[in-house]
Amino acid sequence: MLRLLFVLSFLAACVPAQKESLTTGAATNPNAPSAWSKAGLPKQIFLSHEFSNAEATELTDAVVSWNTHGTYTFSTVSSTKVNDRSSVNNLNSLFDGEFGIYKAVNWHPQLPSTALAVTQIFGVRQNVGTASEFVEIVEGDILINWTFPYAPTNPNGYDLFTVTLHEMGHFLGLGHITNYALQSVMYPSIGYSTFYLRPGSEDIRNIKNKYSIGVQAMAARSPASSSPQRAPATKEFVENSPDAVKIIMELHVDGTCRHYTNDVLQSVHKIK
Ligand SMILES: [Zn+2]
Repeated sequence: MLRLLFVLSFLAACVPAQKESLTTGAATNPNAPSAWSKAGLPKQIFLSHEFSNAEATELTDAVVSWNTHGTYTFSTVSSTKVNDRSSVNNLNSLFDGEFGIYKAVNWHPQLPSTALAVTQIFGVRQNVGTASEFVEIVEGDILINWTFPYAPTNPNGYDLFTVTLHEMGHFLGLGHITNYALQSVMYPSIGYSTFYLRPGSEDIRNIKNKYSIGVQAMAARSPASSSPQRAPATKEFVENSPDAVKIIMELHVDGTCRHYTNDVLQSVHKIK
């Protein structure tokens, strides 16, 4: 049994592109940055059998877009297809060492029906209590809510490439960008008419800072640079660590973003 888990769930939903404002108190350092151990990159991602070849192409293109524009290989896509894991009874069991993108034809009852997709991440807090505290990601999975219409299967549906590009940003540890003056694919809203071609300049800047790629000025503040040679944390380490916590971030179509820590609601960002 998992004693303590850290879960970050990022949801992309079709909400209007409007500004957010904090309406309730924040959790204990709920906004610590998250990143994979650089020593463990790149990560290999598996697609489930249910995706068509055309859909798999969209997914693969979205995954590798973060590599070519970041001048660094963060993740690759295996040619081996895997069984869908989006319908497991307990979503915590996705903490299995297999980093998957799953086609959720039947959306999981534990997840809000209003989410286009969910990126679920497990990790453990490192450098706790210091200015360099961060969450080391050790597991990530993306669930695509196929109860929504998606292109290219449905030409009038949501753009699968765009949604996956956004979720891959979360997979790599990026949060949402709410300053719409910046070029980003990490805005907390995706609609029928949203089409992204590649990560934006703000996304590239953030991912380079996070992983200390070609940026010296921010290196000291980068989680990944704090111990670049240290081996990545293991699943067993996370399961037994007192610094593991469970956090869920939900973004709903009504424009409400809810943050949970250990199942306790910590804050609500209400989009005006
Ligand atoms: Zn998101």
